[in-house]
Amino acid sequence: MEFGFTEEQETLRKELYDFYARELPEDVTDVPAVSKELQDFWMDLQKKAGRKGYLTPGWSKETGGLGLGHMEAGVANEVEGYWGIRWPNGVGLQVCGPGLHLFGTEEQKKNFLPEISSGEKIWYECFTEPEAGTDEANQQTRAKKQGDKWIINGQKIYITGGYKPDLLLVEARTADTVPKHKGLTLFCFSAETPGVTVAALPCMGGYLANIFYFDDVMVGDEAVIGQINQGFYHVMETFEFERSNTYGAARARRDLHEMVQFCRETKKNGEPLIKNPEIRKALAKMAVDIEVLRLATWRTAWRFGERDRLGPLDFDLTGLFARLNGIAHSVVRLNILGVYGQLRRGSKYAKLSGDVERDWQYTRSMHYAGTLEAVKIVLAGRVLGLPRIPAKLNKTIMEALQEKK
Ligand SMILES: Cc1cc2nc3c(=O)[nH]c(=O)nc-3n(C[C@H](O)[C@H](O)[C@H](O)COP(=O)(O)OP(=O)(O)OC[C@H]3O[C@@H](n4cnc5c(N)ncnc54)[C@H](O)[C@@H]3O)c2cc1C
Repeated sequence: MEFGFTEEQETLRKELYDFYARELPEDVTDVPAVSKELQDFWMDLQKKAGRKGYLTPGWSKETGGLGLGHMEAGVANEVEGYWGIRWPNGVGLQVCGPGLHLFGTEEQKKNFLPEISSGEKIWYECFTEPEAGTDEANQQTRAKKQGDKWIINGQKIYITGGYKPDLLLVEARTADTVPKHKGLTLFCFSAETPGVTVAALPCMGGYLANIFYFDDVMVGDEAVIGQINQGFYHVMETFEFERSNTYGAARARRDLHEMVQFCRETKKNGEPLIKNPEIRKALAKMAVDIEVLRLATWRTAWRFGERDRLGPLDFDLTGLFARLNGIAHSVVRLNILGVYGQLRRGSKYAKLSGDVERDWQYTRSMHYAGTLEAVKIVLAGRVLGLPRIPAKLNKTIMEALQEKK
């Protein structure tokens, strides 16, 4: 079995690595809320990388990519992870664009994909609502057809993004007389469309989200993405991309290397921290976790090239493992830093740029791309074949909970 990368893939890796090494200032942070200058910096770099096809090497040349495959896309993602790059259009590049490849019309692909791969446009994915998170099918936002227009009303919450979006991918109810998940449709329209308003929702770890309100937003049939009333299934397809990437393991690996270096250089009671057996054990466990995750995500990247073999084991398991690692490792890193672990970027006493404290906060936020429980339920049912809770037992539990209230 050939268990490695081709010469061409290694050349691409080096080319990308060198490009970012040249372009990234030493102390740059990926939290765009910090300043307008930082936002402009990331936007400019996104466009520069886009012009070279580096944002989407796996896409065809017609759509602005390099015409390579899923493995090369994984290589690019891994290099971005190493450098800690979070693109302003991360959602468009990682979720909406790949989704459009699967369910967009030829015209939509022609219209939208080149603008994503060139880094020019920013997309937000607007699925979650106050009453529709894990219960994705319970969408209350409605799109009603009036003449040749759709009129959209509703509200979306926790929508990722710290930049000004250009386009919104919105899930809305278009039919009421069918089962909930069979009456949803995806729409894509400009964030500037009359009737769209947005409120910022700052979250832990410098993470930025938004609440969107839609009041009589009017769009035409060209705004429909994929098939009418098939939106739920299209959204499920986007989870394949959202829950798997080669980014996380690369970033975790770099964090680990920095931590090892810190432990070599920092002394406690006259001894470098790295000599402490407990610390060595914790670092070794992190290294093993990261290697397992790296291999699992590469297996997923490889399987993406053979879509018919792709199953939830690939993307759900890697997504779950990545998040569980993130939580556990951030605690280990925080504990090794001791009291310094609480200091943020900006403090002159902060170690490792204050990123450990930020990562600890950030990894508390586990609900993106579906909660851990939701992912476990999918794995239990679709991979392990475990039965769902029988309806009767479910009813008894609900009744017991009601009584307790
Ligand atoms: C950092 C971050 C970024 C996000 N970005 C986006 C975005 O860009 N676009 C977007 O549309 N959404 C986004 N979301 C929203 C995210 O998809 C939802 O938060 C998620 O689907 C969970 O929904 P909820 O918050 O309503 O929680 P709920 O669904 O209300 O769940 C609350 C708790 O109950 C548990 N639970 C719910 N149902 C079950 C069940 N059947 N069995 C067992 N346990 C259950 C959940 O696991 C969870 O612990 C983001 C969220 C976060 C935190």
